Amino acid sequence: MTPSATLEAHALTKRYRRTTAVDDLSFRVRPGVVTGFLGPNGAGKSTTLRLFLGLDRPTRGAATVGGLRLAETPRAMRVVGAMLDARAVHPRRTATDHLLAVARAGGVHRRRVPEVLGLVGLADAAHRPAGELSLGMQQRLGIATALVGDPGVVILDEPLNGLDPEGIRWARTLMRDLASEGRTVLFSSHLMGEMELTADHLVVVHHGRLLADQPLTAFVAERTTRRVRARSPERERLAAALDRAGVTTRVDPVAADALDVTGTTTDEVGRIAATTGVALAELTDVRDSLEEVFLAMTAARKDAA
Ligand code: ADP
Repeated sequence: MTPSATLEAHALTKRYRRTTAVDDLSFRVRPGVVTGFLGPNGAGKSTTLRLFLGLDRPTRGAATVGGLRLAETPRAMRVVGAMLDARAVHPRRTATDHLLAVARAGGVHRRRVPEVLGLVGLADAAHRPAGELSLGMQQRLGIATALVGDPGVVILDEPLNGLDPEGIRWARTLMRDLASEGRTVLFSSHLMGEMELTADHLVVVHHGRLLADQPLTAFVAERTTRRVRARSPERERLAAALDRAGVTTRVDPVAADALDVTGTTTDEVGRIAATTGVALAELTDVRDSLEEVFLAMTAARKDAA
């Protein structure tokens, strides 16, 4: 493995004719953790990744890998491995031939090819034409392409697309393993549940602008309203007792027997229920999912705009 490096966007801006795809973005992506690049469609994620890879030139600012633009970096494939579009493979080429061509172009020894095919679980499909592979297998081949140079930095655009649940779990474990080997791992996804399970750190963009750059747990914790979910066959009596105790309650419209209680703890709700003689069917600490936090945040932006 080549040494890992930090990715850095510095006042990065990319304008197309009418669109500002990336607008003054500054952030760093560090080695040893999985960083999720999150944003709705059209937020500027792919453009940013292309700028890091030197496939496009910024209008202003810079995108660097280990302090250098990738175009200035010798043996770039060993420094950064990327998958932008898993379908960018000639359909009649076999998986092995495709990877051999990639290895040759990057000055990587051909013995790496069976190694990466094994790594992505495609050893049995090594001699099948890429066009005959399932979407999930093409995705695995795309990931293999990124890993040919055994790079210290791995960039994957929507790597979970087209994978079945087993494949998603595999990709998640792979990304976590790559990071724990000390590599810099940046992946984009619009599947927020998956991102929540995979990423340690988040870079969040919306309309080309940076909304957040922080650990995932902090991103959620800072924006969530903690609440207690209580279910009881005597919901109204429980609500009245909580009300008397000065605790804020909100009746949950989802379930007929549920209450959402803010400004308190499970301990206190349990104590009040016991004193009142009300049976409880459930008492849980609830926090918003990444998806709920993200949607609330982008909706608030839309209102403000
Ligand atoms: P994401 O990857 O987050 O979905 P993109 O980076 O693909 O977002 O796109 C960001 C914005 O830039 C979109 O409005 C898109 O239409 C525009 N865009 C991207 N590439 C080009 C291009 N080559 N020419 C013109 N507009 C583009």
